[in-house]
Amino acid sequence: MGHKGAILIAGGAGYIGAHCSKAVAEAGFLPVCYDDLTTGHRSFVQWGPLVVGDIADSIKVATVIRQYDVQAVMHLAASSAVGESVADPQKYYLNNVAGTLGLLQGMRAAGCNRLVFSSTGAVYGNAGREPIPESAAGPTVNPYGRSKYMIEQILADYRAAYGFSSICLRYFNACGADASAVIGELRNPETHLIPRALMAILGHVADFAIFGTDYDTPDGTAVRDYIHVDDLGAAHIAAVELLLQGNPGGAFNLGTGTGCSVREIVDAIRSETGESVPLVYRERRAGDPAILVADPSQAERQLGFKARRSDLGTIIRSAWAWHQKAHPRIA
Ligand code: UDP
Repeated sequence: MGHKGAILIAGGAGYIGAHCSKAVAEAGFLPVCYDDLTTGHRSFVQWGPLVVGDIADSIKVATVIRQYDVQAVMHLAASSAVGESVADPQKYYLNNVAGTLGLLQGMRAAGCNRLVFSSTGAVYGNAGREPIPESAAGPTVNPYGRSKYMIEQILADYRAAYGFSSICLRYFNACGADASAVIGELRNPETHLIPRALMAILGHVADFAIFGTDYDTPDGTAVRDYIHVDDLGAAHIAAVELLLQGNPGGAFNLGTGTGCSVREIVDAIRSETGESVPLVYRERRAGDPAILVADPSQAERQLGFKARRSDLGTIIRSAWAWHQKAHPRIA
């Protein structure tokens, strides 16, 4: 076999899923990518086989788990844009909640009871405090966060009823790219701050703007906790190892504990790239809370995880290398 066992990565052809696949391969497991390729990229599947399928297709999920003798599943297959979730909630409840039920049904049918679930800082809504401990989850402010929190609650019920173990990783703002610049953020349309600012420099985004300058924050723009995608990959490996040791699981924040405003990000992009960012200011975006900053201490204590590549310089330089390759400059 030559590896420590297969890990099924639902959504493995997406941005975070591909970085997790690389981390899984480097940790000595076989990453089996399961992705319907609606938003994922075939070219991102480089470290193991690709199965094209829908997570809602429980029969296919069970078949793949049996075929590869899958030891645990990482589930990153989801719709993930906050603004879109406000405009089209049905898409989020169908893809995220109903889709996950299909995946869980397939896992249980095939006897695989270990799941690392891609959750989000959006389960905290407007938490109103900083940093946010895991216990503050619940009062969500957009359908995206609600869909993820519903799944966390479903997983807690599965843990109690079926002994189904799961670790929910509440990512704060994923960003950056692998140092090789062969995988990175690639969405159409792109909605996230750092890629949009970099794509604006390269001429691929014409209407880059800061959304909201009247938040109750030090400089009036929204504050987030930015974590490098390679750090997320490392946390997924720590979570899988814990589940394989028989741990029943729980929920952990993945962040740095340090907040950064939108304006600070734009300034850091200017200084790291040496480029000017074309800029206008617009209204707040629907569904956006003012401040989301993780309390990372529980992940450090129980998962042994600490962000190591999430300083702004590393984040922006690695993202910049990726975007220059993925989106060549338009004169
Ligand atoms: N944002 C912005 N301009 C953009 C994209 C995002 O000002 O073109 C802001 C957004 O309103 C939020 C922060 O940047 O306050 C981070 O947004 P992003 O979409 O990157 O991640 P989210 O926090 O929604 O997961």
